[in-house]
Amino acid sequence: MKRSIVWHRRDLRLHDNTALNQALKSSDEIIPIFIFDDDILNQRQDFSPACVRFMLESLEDLEQAYLKKSVLLVFDRGKPLEVLCKLQEETGASAIFFNEDYESYAHKRDTAVSEHFKSKGVEVHASFDQLGIHPKHIRTQQNNVYTVFTPFKKTWLNSFNGIPSPEPFPKDIKSHNIKRIQLPMLEDICKASSVEPEISGGAGAAAALWQAFLAERIYHYKTQRDFPGLNATSRLSAHLRFGTISIRQLFTDIKSLLEEKTSKDKEGVETFLSELIWREFYFYILYHFPQVEFGSFKPELAGINWENNPAFFEAWKAGQTGYPIVDAGMRQLNQTGWTHNRLRMIVASFLCKDLLIDWRWGELFFMQRLIDGDLALNNGGWQWAASTGTDAQPYFRIFNPELQSKKFDPNGSFIRQFVPELAGLPDKYIHNPYSVYQKSPLMLESCGVKLGKDYPFPIVDHKIQREKALKMYKL
Ligand SMILES: Cc1cc2nc3c(=O)[nH]c(=O)nc-3n(C[C@H](O)[C@H](O)[C@H](O)COP(=O)(O)OP(=O)(O)OC[C@H]3O[C@@H](n4cnc5c(N)ncnc54)[C@H](O)[C@@H]3O)c2cc1C
Repeated sequence: MKRSIVWHRRDLRLHDNTALNQALKSSDEIIPIFIFDDDILNQRQDFSPACVRFMLESLEDLEQAYLKKSVLLVFDRGKPLEVLCKLQEETGASAIFFNEDYESYAHKRDTAVSEHFKSKGVEVHASFDQLGIHPKHIRTQQNNVYTVFTPFKKTWLNSFNGIPSPEPFPKDIKSHNIKRIQLPMLEDICKASSVEPEISGGAGAAAALWQAFLAERIYHYKTQRDFPGLNATSRLSAHLRFGTISIRQLFTDIKSLLEEKTSKDKEGVETFLSELIWREFYFYILYHFPQVEFGSFKPELAGINWENNPAFFEAWKAGQTGYPIVDAGMRQLNQTGWTHNRLRMIVASFLCKDLLIDWRWGELFFMQRLIDGDLALNNGGWQWAASTGTDAQPYFRIFNPELQSKKFDPNGSFIRQFVPELAGLPDKYIHNPYSVYQKSPLMLESCGVKLGKDYPFPIVDHKIQREKALKMYKL
């Protein structure tokens, strides 16, 4: 009788789960477990209640999916190695299966677990599951690591057709059922918050989002994805973060769409695929350059002398900078735990290049708020915006918040939704109420906005800050 432990971490699904499938193929019984890791819970300051809530919903969904197969998903809390040792000793399991995780903490933890069990003669199997193509398989012709997205994408695409299709849903699962703790409540893990996520956890919710996106929106993705006021993106980021959907499922469906002979817009599908390749790229960077977790990828930009004004940081966090598109983005983040990619770029650029605040402050704040906070992508996004990253925005390219607003929220509908105090302003005023005020405060007041009372004056002058940023970056 071979008994195996299946250790779930960021793969909260039964469907096409590599570690689970491998365990099922080689074992008579499995014991699936999720561990609430004390090393993370007691030490990290980057908990986002929205993210934890999403994880708990996904765990509940996974627990139910297992229950339908008469399998108990074990929940336990403690240090992973200790919890696994106890479980292995108690059940006599002779193997442990899990899916690889590329964050530095996870890597260290998994290495310690592997070394320990291997020394005791227990098999350890770490499977590749989170990405389409393993970061170790993509190299330049000179066998170097890519640091620029476009050639990386080209090489990645050469292997796209080789990504395997999802494996069928496991029919029967034989398990050794034991019980430890109940699934904790949100309050057991982090402080409750007023965030109201629009995205629910669980594999069922992920599949529904994906099917809805495939039905139509994916075809308009290229032309609509940059407009925060439109529901044009997939909203799958938290599901990809927690593995409630298989990345191979996405790639397989995309392959079929690209092979279809109908005249539907393939550019939309290709653009969406490209965004998923950005995800692969940032994981690739984290895998090959784990130091990005702690600082600038570009050594020459590691020593920027940020101003780090705490009052500016507070205004940015609260969405009270006096720049409507920035404030709308930050308020969407605070209220829902998610914000649109265009807004992430705008608010990140504003923090670094208008407020002259260290991107790592913003990176941490995002992790404390996002439902989809994911080290590789968040770090990649911040280093891109701050120009310190691989293939980042050049430092002299500085977003003008007013122009971004006019371009991507032309009629101000998104701003009106999240900055309701400006809702009465006509489209032409809404992107920069201060410039109207400079001409005539009365004109603004006649639309129901008193600057300084209803809505803040801009905390900085973009033109002046731009010049300061350019100097700051020229080390
Ligand atoms: C400063 C900054 C921080 C970010 N932090 C995170 C984060 O913590 N977690 C996270 O999942 N994404 C992050 N992103 C990337 C991106 O903004 C989100 O993935 C996207 O907005 C999520 O919405 P969606 O699922 O509807 O995306 P869609 O547009 O539907 O894209 C589909 C998927 O492709 C991937 N993707 C999309 N855009 C990007 C991108 N620019 N870079 C890398 N992958 C991408 C994501 O996995 C996303 O779910 C960040 C971007 C920036 C600029």
